[in-house]
Amino acid sequence: MYDLIVLGGGPGGYLAAERAGHAGLKTLLIEKRSIGGVCLNEGCIPSKTLLNSAKLYDHACHGEKYGVTTEGAAIDLPAVIKRKNKVVTKLVKGVEHTLKSCQVDIVKGEGRILGRQDGEMSVQVGDETYAARQLIIATGSQPIVPPIPGVKEGLETGDILTSREILDLETIPKKLVVIGGGVIGLEMAGFFQTIGADVTVVEMLGHIAGAADLEMAGLLQKAYEKQGITFYLNSRVTAVKNGKVEVLTGDQTLELEADKILLSTGRRAVTEGFGLDSLNVFVDRGRIVTDSQGRTNIPGVYAVGDVNGIWMLAHAAYREAEVCISTILGKKDRMRYEAMPSVVYTNPEMAFVGETEQTCKQKGIAYRKLMLPMSYSGRYLAENEDASGQIKLLVDPDGTRLLGCHLLGSYASEIILSAGMMIEREMSIEEIKELIFPHPTVSEIIREAVFKI
Ligand code: FAD
Repeated sequence: MYDLIVLGGGPGGYLAAERAGHAGLKTLLIEKRSIGGVCLNEGCIPSKTLLNSAKLYDHACHGEKYGVTTEGAAIDLPAVIKRKNKVVTKLVKGVEHTLKSCQVDIVKGEGRILGRQDGEMSVQVGDETYAARQLIIATGSQPIVPPIPGVKEGLETGDILTSREILDLETIPKKLVVIGGGVIGLEMAGFFQTIGADVTVVEMLGHIAGAADLEMAGLLQKAYEKQGITFYLNSRVTAVKNGKVEVLTGDQTLELEADKILLSTGRRAVTEGFGLDSLNVFVDRGRIVTDSQGRTNIPGVYAVGDVNGIWMLAHAAYREAEVCISTILGKKDRMRYEAMPSVVYTNPEMAFVGETEQTCKQKGIAYRKLMLPMSYSGRYLAENEDASGQIKLLVDPDGTRLLGCHLLGSYASEIILSAGMMIEREMSIEEIKELIFPHPTVSEIIREAVFKI
């Protein structure tokens, strides 16, 4: 009998198991594919490893602006993939080692929930059945496959790829069509355009980058267009056949040629096929409903990560896992989503936290905005010849409180944490002005901006 069974070994599941084991709970982690889940094996880490190679290649090709000339710079995609696999293996092994050192038992196999009796949950893996007083469901998410004619067949032949397969593609497609201009689609579009593909992005909405501030998403689109990526917004893929993507844009139907097609039309929580119904856990629109402690409607049953559909991000899963274990241990803790940072690892990077202009309008929050070129930062200018980055701050009308921070430019992913802390800790603008930023750093752009409010 275990104190806790965790179903699914992605960031939500493995961190919950790690924290539980560390706190002395007898813990079992069940994973059917590979520890680390989507994030380590086919998501965050592999994509960023590939993007790093693309960035190096881009620097090598365009070094002359900085007085550096290179001859014969080339991209060796199989070698890039090999390195990606090495990074993934190292990280997965590291997580497995940490779990073992926290005394977590790991069972590899598909778990099936059998039900709940006398306050105990039982889960079957193969011929074995395991029982525990607490169960955390961390089964994650999978790509949405829209019912577009030809898509199912394309996935079978390999002409259409999801984010999982494209991360292992060893030849550069001449023409890549990306269906869906959200975060994953944009990151992969940037990667393939940089290494030599001709990339077109088709997006149903009138803007790219999902929940990002519209103005910043527009700037990112412009930067991408300058790099050669073509966008069709307000456009719908109606069919895929014979290596062509049929797109309805306005009242026109286009046929886009493609050697490969990336399907990145979003992800859906995994709530079916593993016996969840045996517990009568409340599922709304395909997502497990939880409270701010990660509890479901069934006592002793929790859910963390993508499966709750709140923020499908690895760092959201991490924090939800910690809150969940605190709750199981009887410690006061709760999830707060107001200062959840989001990053798009494009080149330039885009990162944001807090309110966007759209969410302010939706919620009826009065705001003022301030935009400033990133070139106000000396380091940014030193490192960027095409200095098109921007910071955008949203503040309350009195200019006393930070509501949102949006960055487009290098290091945005690293800097956004500080803005998140300012929002999370409800720092006043006067308090932010007193903070000392290291010089010269791109993060100083926040300091520059708050003094202009
Ligand atoms: P997952 O990582 O999906 O893990 C769930 C695990 O459960 C899987 O390993 C699965 O095999 C296992 N499982 C499911 N059912 C069972 C069962 N019945 N029995 C046993 N095991 C089961 N997020 C970021 O924050 N930053 C990024 O840069 C980023 N980049 C991404 C890039 C790509 C290409 C993709 C696809 C995603 C990216 N994400 C990123 C999202 C991030 O990967 C997810 O938010 C995160 O992995 C969710 O963690 P999770 O633990 O909820 O689920």
